[in-house]
Amino acid sequence: MAYTPHPERYATMPYRRCGKSGLKLPALSLGLWHNFGHVDVLENSRQIIYMAFDKGVTHFDLANNYGPPPGSAEENFGKILKQDFAGYRDELIISSKAGYTMWGGPYGDWGSKKYLVASLDQSLQRMGLEYVDIFYHHRPDPETPLEETMGALDLIVRQGKALYAGISNYRPEEAAQAMAILKKLGTPCLIHQPKYSMFERWVEDGLLDLLEQEGVGCIPFSPLAQGLLTNKYLGGIPADSRAAKETGALQEEQITQDKLSQIKRLNALAEQRGQTLAQMALAWLLKDSRITSVLIGASKPEQLLDSLKCLDSPEFSGEELNAIEEILA
Ligand code: NDP
Repeated sequence: MAYTPHPERYATMPYRRCGKSGLKLPALSLGLWHNFGHVDVLENSRQIIYMAFDKGVTHFDLANNYGPPPGSAEENFGKILKQDFAGYRDELIISSKAGYTMWGGPYGDWGSKKYLVASLDQSLQRMGLEYVDIFYHHRPDPETPLEETMGALDLIVRQGKALYAGISNYRPEEAAQAMAILKKLGTPCLIHQPKYSMFERWVEDGLLDLLEQEGVGCIPFSPLAQGLLTNKYLGGIPADSRAAKETGALQEEQITQDKLSQIKRLNALAEQRGQTLAQMALAWLLKDSRITSVLIGASKPEQLLDSLKCLDSPEFSGEELNAIEEILA
């Protein structure tokens, strides 16, 4: 049966302004890095997208290389868009990126204008779109002049192939330079996409302050540390988990005894707060007003439902915040 979006889809999701731009993003956005490739079950991917949109998740994050195989997440997303979201393009914020290896030879990687422009053209074709809302440079390129990479983002926006430009995985100093170049070109940086979770906190050392000062939004990725910040690994490695899958980016070796003992204590604290660890880990990020949106992944619609309940979290008391710091220390 054809999909009809839920009529009450905007009733509960908060939308937060992205830096000092005109754009608002849902407090939770959905990423398609895992679970949307040709190796996955398309019907499940479809159900996750339905669930997201029905709950007010208007932002879907992709990249040229998501799959596997690379490109297949954009292809599958394109199929779902065409079949089910034809009349809803203006209610969606779709992002893509280029910066990691996408094709062979010297033009399919890093940050040249040649690569970025060609890659976005390919992404648009795979998704069946005329434009993406946000186009990111996926990671800094130590060899290409930053002026060229940022110039490519500016060009792409001027050509109307993207509405906004973003950067990802840039450290504070290089982010500041990139943002200054973009500002000068007249295409201000909309947003930065860094890795940020209870287990990965480098952004607290300068990046978040910089973004706030420059009026640039922040959308943390892997906020659940790829599933570690949930209760799923407490009793071993479930067969259907990312750590068990051959195509998953989470390695078994990353689930150490030290990590597990931290997760166990965090989980107990979450239970005391009347929520799941996933919900607590997401609420912990969202308590910071410098965070525009938190970019989650999900392998099943039910996970998304569970994570979305972080929006009903009780406030953190000072004692709870201290207890979290103590566990993570
Ligand atoms: P998360 O840290 O949210 O991990 C998602 C995974 O955690 C799910 O696939 C699932 O794994 C598990 N999970 C999610 N919710 C729950 C729940 N409620 N209960 C139990 N388990 C749960 O994020 P990702 O690592 O997936 O990254 C999110 C997005 O960020 C990506 O899709 C991508 O868009 C972006 N990203 C960007 C990068 C960049 O360089 N810019 C790099 C990496 C990601 P399982 O399969 O085990 O069920």
